[in-house]
Amino acid sequence: MITLQQKRLLWRSAFFVLFILAPVLDIFRFDLNENHFILLWQPWVLGIDASKPALELFWNMLTRFLLPIGLVVGGGMFISWKWGRLYCGWLCPHFSVVEMINSLMRRASGKLSIWDKETLPEKQQDGTEIKTSKLWWIATAFTVLFFSFVWAVVLLTYLLPPKEIYSNLFTASLTRNQFIFISVATFLLVTEFTLARHLFCRFGCAIGLFQSLAWMANKNAMVVGFDRKRAKLCVACDKSCEHACPMRLKPRSLKRNMFTCTQCMQCVQACEKVQENDSGLSLLKMLDDHCAHDVSDRGFGYKPDVPAGCFNIENQGRKRCEHTKR
Ligand code: SF4
Ligand code: SF4
Repeated sequence: MITLQQKRLLWRSAFFVLFILAPVLDIFRFDLNENHFILLWQPWVLGIDASKPALELFWNMLTRFLLPIGLVVGGGMFISWKWGRLYCGWLCPHFSVVEMINSLMRRASGKLSIWDKETLPEKQQDGTEIKTSKLWWIATAFTVLFFSFVWAVVLLTYLLPPKEIYSNLFTASLTRNQFIFISVATFLLVTEFTLARHLFCRFGCAIGLFQSLAWMANKNAMVVGFDRKRAKLCVACDKSCEHACPMRLKPRSLKRNMFTCTQCMQCVQACEKVQENDSGLSLLKMLDDHCAHDVSDRGFGYKPDVPAGCFNIENQGRKRCEHTKR
């Protein structure tokens, strides 16, 4: 059966393909030559012309600008408000590259990022076993370069006709400006993918920031919850949940410390593995509604505790955590 992380990989891969093909198939792009957007095979123009009657101008503004923008922004904000940064963890083409390079860097150096202080154990209690070898630096460097170049070319196709860009690229006849754009963007992305990656997601991405703000505003939103009543079980553990987190967060913490959580559930699954042969129940679980208050509110004058039943210990005995079985 397909696991949750395999499902996530499928979603991210499909979205990465869409990210590359959207301009090629005229699903979405801006055409600098024509000076307008193209959306779903149609020119997306506002139709604002002073000679038109006021009612027509208002209608055009409403249907061609306010409504589509409102739907996308409003829909996105609602999803983030209820479920957090799902876009980041399950779709974002940048985060896909972040996770890929993280895993290669770990094979090369035992760390997910050059800024990490501690080297992660080669064998973890969640069953992860990764032998390090300096040879993996070659694959890491190649991957960084390859994806930076792909990203740079794709970004350009969002601005200029993709047919022209790809044909110029394959016949080695890029214009001077196209060549400069691709070179500079590749250089910047190589720097970003090597040095920043998840730090960009945490501190530099506006899309991520707005998702986080919407999520923080809802104390019932889905969040990683920690069963503090059984915290003593962590004493014997090597913090597998923290090692699993691609954003380098501490999943046993409060919601405000996990401001940039991408709902990838890798921490939950790591704990599930650790506990498989012990208590049988993960100490981490995705919680929402009233169950999420313990993580959302603790420390702000409100004194919640995980309400009975949220971790289903009473009902499930040694059964596996219901959310992570999916
Ligand atoms: S805290 Fe857990 S769910 Fe959130 S980003 Fe880290 S591993 Fe993913
Ligand atoms: S929450 Fe689970 S994975 Fe994390 S330290 Fe405790 S036992 Fe280990």
